[in-house]
Amino acid sequence: MKVGTETLLKSNGYNLKGFSIDDIGDDHISTGLETPMKKGAFDMSDTEKKERIAHLFSEIMDVMGLDLTDDSLRGTPNRVAKMYIEEIFSGLDPKNKPKVALFDNKYQYNQMLVEKNITFYSNCEHHFVPIIGKAHVAYISSGKVIGLSKLNRIVQYFAKRPQVQERLTNQIATELKQILNTEDVAVIIDAKHLCVSSRGIKDETSATVTSYYGGVFNTPDKIVELQNYINN
Ligand SMILES: [Zn+2]
Repeated sequence: MKVGTETLLKSNGYNLKGFSIDDIGDDHISTGLETPMKKGAFDMSDTEKKERIAHLFSEIMDVMGLDLTDDSLRGTPNRVAKMYIEEIFSGLDPKNKPKVALFDNKYQYNQMLVEKNITFYSNCEHHFVPIIGKAHVAYISSGKVIGLSKLNRIVQYFAKRPQVQERLTNQIATELKQILNTEDVAVIIDAKHLCVSSRGIKDETSATVTSYYGGVFNTPDKIVELQNYINN
């Protein structure tokens, strides 16, 4: 096993001595709440990042033996670079975080609000292939409310990173708790991982469900109530 990897994982509280990166590679281990970013992650401009990624991706294609002078392949490195930075991994950059305005809870609505079936596309950080799923988020107002579309945008922001589903779930919950100034937040994610269905074990029917129940949501009654709304 490479010492660097072992040290890194150990520093995150994992005892993975004796396991190689191949052993743990398919086991989707999340090492913490924060997406692991290096220092100076945003020193480079987006333009520079796209140029570098395009160059490096063309190298990968070249190594695989693809003819980059072919009309169909010529533009691929640039397309991939643009897609990585502007779309599917745009949630790595805090400048892309949705701006959220809070409103007074004028309707005095004090039950749970559930925004369900939020479709998202993310990517598994271990294989860089898609995770496709639905998120259900809920909160009980502590006096302020946010626009419904913002719940959707917060899910999309954290989905647009290389992810593991457990971290995605907790990042969304943590953000909602902070914005809404309450512990009374729930997040349920039901997703398909293409690294499980299209390769590796090739199980096309399995799905992964993760949940976060904070504050009053962490009671049997509220969990049942929430599940009823989601399954209706
Ligand atoms: Zn994976």
